[in-house]
Amino acid sequence: MWAMDYDEWALELTTRWMARDLECLSRVSSTSQRLRQRLQTENVPLGAAVIADEQTAGRGRLGRGWQSPAKMGLYTSFLLYPGDRLSGLLSLVAAVALSQAIEAETGLAPKLKWPNDVLLGGKKCTGILVESSSNWAIIGIGVNVGESLPPALTNATTLSRQLGAPVHRPRLWAQLAGFLEQWYERWLTDGSRPVLQAWRERSATIGHSVEILHPDGRPLLTGRAVDVGDDGALLVECNNGTVRRVLAGEVSLRFEGRGYAPPSGDASS
Ligand code: ATP
Repeated sequence: MWAMDYDEWALELTTRWMARDLECLSRVSSTSQRLRQRLQTENVPLGAAVIADEQTAGRGRLGRGWQSPAKMGLYTSFLLYPGDRLSGLLSLVAAVALSQAIEAETGLAPKLKWPNDVLLGGKKCTGILVESSSNWAIIGIGVNVGESLPPALTNATTLSRQLGAPVHRPRLWAQLAGFLEQWYERWLTDGSRPVLQAWRERSATIGHSVEILHPDGRPLLTGRAVDVGDDGALLVECNNGTVRRVLAGEVSLRFEGRGYAPPSGDASS
């Protein structure tokens, strides 16, 4: 591992505490793994962050991978100490902060697919993985920024493709750190309502027919997504009228009859 230009990133920051402890790496297995490693050997301050130009083993939810080619994306993780607050909601906190950072830096209008996919043009441009223990939580974020993408990723897009112009990674990252700091503090002081409201306003999920799948692809239930609960669970009204609470931990969501893409109009505006 060797350092990339720390100043290029740190000088963009406007936060009070988020990412003020910052490690910039050219190559790492995963930025979250790096924070976990630090936690084993030292006291790591609230908001500590890692960014890397490339991840060799980027991870998504449910044991899946996150492809992280060199210099094509933003790969970053942040350390938080949310105590016994519901960490399921942190995924939604991160999705709201990330979509606002994209809005602020590019003018694009991302939409959110439950629980935490950020979509542009109906395609996925970011991955969020929240890992937690009894006393810490790490938010890992990957954003496709540059033009190119591994061709196998048919449901994916990038910010530069959607914008038709390059996107400045350090500024995007600094916006993200800023919105994360704001939303994290707001969540601690005002509870889950404001962040859930911000999530609903960007939702490409609520009101649509969805299929909830087991990690192996088996269908678990179908119905209409009607809302998110205080803990970030999706509320799905099944065909017999019962409303089921679906926790993000072990499932994926598809739009019934449409697969990954949300109904048009909710792709992004
Ligand atoms: P899904 O996106 O299928 O609903 P998920 O939310 O569980 O599932 P994530 O953890 O967000 O998935 O991301 C992992 C998935 O994203 C992988 O299974 C892979 O299909 C896809 N993926 C991997 N790398 C990228 C990338 N750079 N851009 C877009 N998608 C990717």
